[in-house]
Amino acid sequence: MSAYVTVYNQGGAEYLGRVSLHHAITMIHKGKAIVKDFIEGAPFGPYERPTAVELVRYVHAKWKYDRKGVVPFSKKGVLRRDGHVCAYCGGHATTVDHVMPKWEGNAATWNNSVAACFPCNNKKGGRSPAQAGMPIKYVRTPWTPSFADAYRWSHVEDIRH
Ligand SMILES: [Zn+2]
Repeated sequence: MSAYVTVYNQGGAEYLGRVSLHHAITMIHKGKAIVKDFIEGAPFGPYERPTAVELVRYVHAKWKYDRKGVVPFSKKGVLRRDGHVCAYCGGHATTVDHVMPKWEGNAATWNNSVAACFPCNNKKGGRSPAQAGMPIKYVRTPWTPSFADAYRWSHVEDIRH
């Protein structure tokens, strides 16, 4: 019995990812999603136990997981993840810094990217934080967002329009 629930975009055709049963119930409870599929005769509190839910409002799936369960890397996504806070000085970040320089064979990935302000990015240049004497102080160690994070960002995006 899977503890995960599949999430579809409004319309039910577009797969977005998976969330925990608890998260799915919260989405239903808050009116953000409706039950698409459920296990018959297996109530979960006041609900049928869902195996799939469908969002009530269409989410422009810039942040969606692909089927392998990966949130596609993007610069905008890194800025969103780090709250537009520069990893090095805490100022307003508008650029993305590759923590370990790209030309040392480190591709642009979630785990090698942090938000940075233009002056810090410029100052650090093609050096590692240790080489530049600029440790990551103001954001978490780079991390790969989960579907729940991506969903939350989509929602924020949605509310703004
Ligand atoms: Zn900075």
